[in-house]
Amino acid sequence: MNIYKEIYKTIKSFDKIVIARHLGVDPDAMASSLALKQIILNTFPNKKVYAVGVPTSRFKYMGTLDKINDEIAKDALLIVLDTPDKRRVDIENIDNFKSSIKIDHHPFVEKFCDIEYFNEDASSTCEIILDMIYNTKLILDKRSAELLFQGIVSDTNRFTTINTSYKTFDLVHRLIKDTNINFTSLYDNLYMRPMSEIRLQGYISQNLIVTENGLAYIKLTNDIIKELGVDSASAGNMINNFNYIDEVIVWAFISEDVKNNIIKVTMRSRGPIINTIASKHNGGGHERASGARVTTFEEVDILLDELDNVCKEYRSVKNENN
Ligand code: AMP
Repeated sequence: MNIYKEIYKTIKSFDKIVIARHLGVDPDAMASSLALKQIILNTFPNKKVYAVGVPTSRFKYMGTLDKINDEIAKDALLIVLDTPDKRRVDIENIDNFKSSIKIDHHPFVEKFCDIEYFNEDASSTCEIILDMIYNTKLILDKRSAELLFQGIVSDTNRFTTINTSYKTFDLVHRLIKDTNINFTSLYDNLYMRPMSEIRLQGYISQNLIVTENGLAYIKLTNDIIKELGVDSASAGNMINNFNYIDEVIVWAFISEDVKNNIIKVTMRSRGPIINTIASKHNGGGHERASGARVTTFEEVDILLDELDNVCKEYRSVKNENN
């Protein structure tokens, strides 16, 4: 059976459905969860559907999340979105659900759901949800269309990432045509930021260290983060703004998070594959957009050395081919 039909049939067969996504929520994860919840309710109004996970004020404009009790799991279907590995699913008691489905666009890490659909070629989980709507009887509404648009725009960094395809444009074209959403107004919520973040961006621009191999990095200690009046997630959220710098092929922002006693590393690449390095340091992600969580600045230095080496190798292979 076609995988979308199988997912649709499974959704249809459950009265209670819980939708979860990865820790450290981003717009694709948040938008796909809230949109899928609404789309299931549009199609099956009598079902109970919950979108769960730790909320963040940053994405409040997308909608609110639900709380569930432990009782729900035993006869509910769990749908995990945008998450390739079990440890990163933002839900407790994941093993208590009666059945589970995974829908994801990350490289495969492990099987942990009964039905799994992952498509690394898709630009975003929102793109997969949209494709599924157009290939099943799921009913799209205007608000969900807006969310899906925002998720796709965000995860493709405005249609610039490598897995943005003709299919992405096809689906978005159809979405706008069918629902007539006012898509230009949707950028406001996605890209509006406080002045403190612009000051942080200026600080990063001024202090970014660039190696001769093309690695750029900045270490933001808790003191600097506090002084600039931002938080430990702020730098990571603006990493895409530092794309297209001639001298830089890989860039990493390191932010100390004293509240959680970790150091967050957010990485991007315009060439070398970096998720293999991220996975060695309690991280993972896409080939060229990855993250890691380490505990010491000594480990940060090891990680940066590995990134620098991969830049060096990449440049030497490129030079040989030219
Ligand atoms: P971010 O740096 O948060 O924009 O994340 C880039 C990609 O890496 C996303 O697909 C994340 O899900 C993934 N990612 C970020 N941090 C981690 C982590 N600690 N472990 C696994 N994947 C991660």
